[in-house]
Amino acid sequence: MSQIAIKSTDIITPEGIMKGIILIENGLIKSILPYDAMVDTVITDVGDSVVMAGVIDPHVHINEPGRTDWEGFNTATRAAIAGGLTTLVDMPLNSAPVTTSVAAFEEKLAAAKNQLHTNVGFWGGIIPGNTDEIEPLIKKGVLGFKAFLTHSGIDDFPNATEADLRKGMPIIAKHNLPLLVHCELTDDFKPEQWDAQSYQDYLSSRPKYWEDDAINLMIALCEEYRCRVHIVHLSSANSIAAIAKAKQKGLPLTVETGQHYLFFNAEDIADGQTQFKCAPPVREKQNNDQLWQALKDGIIDFVATDHSPAPPDLKQIGTGDFKKAWGGIASLQFALPVLWTAAKQRGCIANDIAKWLSENPAKLIGKQKSKGKIAVGYDADLVIWNPEQSFTLTEDQIQHKHKITPYLGRELYGVVKQTWLGGTKVFDNGIFTQLNLGQPILNHE
Ligand SMILES: [Zn+2]
Repeated sequence: MSQIAIKSTDIITPEGIMKGIILIENGLIKSILPYDAMVDTVITDVGDSVVMAGVIDPHVHINEPGRTDWEGFNTATRAAIAGGLTTLVDMPLNSAPVTTSVAAFEEKLAAAKNQLHTNVGFWGGIIPGNTDEIEPLIKKGVLGFKAFLTHSGIDDFPNATEADLRKGMPIIAKHNLPLLVHCELTDDFKPEQWDAQSYQDYLSSRPKYWEDDAINLMIALCEEYRCRVHIVHLSSANSIAAIAKAKQKGLPLTVETGQHYLFFNAEDIADGQTQFKCAPPVREKQNNDQLWQALKDGIIDFVATDHSPAPPDLKQIGTGDFKKAWGGIASLQFALPVLWTAAKQRGCIANDIAKWLSENPAKLIGKQKSKGKIAVGYDADLVIWNPEQSFTLTEDQIQHKHKITPYLGRELYGVVKQTWLGGTKVFDNGIFTQLNLGQPILNHE
């Protein structure tokens, strides 16, 4: 098979930024040659654009089958390659059926067929009563499991109780897969007053201690069962110390936060702006500064979008009602520029982005030996982007099914020039050059 060569002054490798030529053969990185090496193939010279391992987002709600009017495989995975995402992992909700049985998983795989423009893995779900489905779902190829400790937003995915987790965790641990947990342990707390349009009132309705209580419970269960636990979308900085302590003890605990917790602050969110509604909520600047520090310190492992779109009426666009609005932020396509824009202001460099968006998420999904790095033998899944260039996000750029996102109108740094999937260029300066090259990523032990 023919070889492909990509030349850049800024290749991000685990050893740092280097000048060189990436030689690709049969979809894999064959070697990284000196910048002025002679090669017997056509060279794609991308100048000083950054060449980085493709973005891996392990937290995406594609919602197909069943809620395809919210999002779908076709639109989500197009958005992915337009944004430099070469692998994403679909959540077991809000599709219908939810992915809590083998039958439902088979339905999802069938729905995904011929619609994958990037690589897509799948999480299974843990709900009350589905313990017997865990082993069969693993055999069928899920990469791990997701559970909620509070109402998930849809009634067909009820939250797990501690007893349900105690049944499931030994099985998941046996296979060394992760259990992803939405950590909010709700009680009957309600704010005294709640003006439906007020962001501050919405924020008060989901207190930090719900997250902190849930995280403490999951750390205890992680220790007891030695089951890999992954805390999704950490928002409360109050839990950072407990997480750091658990990690110091060597517990198999990992943590992600979301771009929106690092980009926005509650103080700046106007009333009625329901495109910002998510759970847990975007909190105040002082809290978010601590999230940044924890990310830099490695206490938070990586950043994932939690892309969770819904149609405009469900998002209450127009009424601005935070009580009724669907909680979920749409941002998949802009994972890289959003994080980079915020990171750049805090003195971070492109290597940090590679660690937070590629290298560390690859470990969660068990693909650290084939994805997430530019290294010999790794899959040639690449994003080529310009960190100095900026753009203003307009609706016509958005490939998601719905054009609602809190980043609309923002100036973002980091323009994605090209996306390569297994050694084939699939996106080139605004144009999809090759579709349908995505593969389902199934875990076969
Ligand atoms: Zn989610």
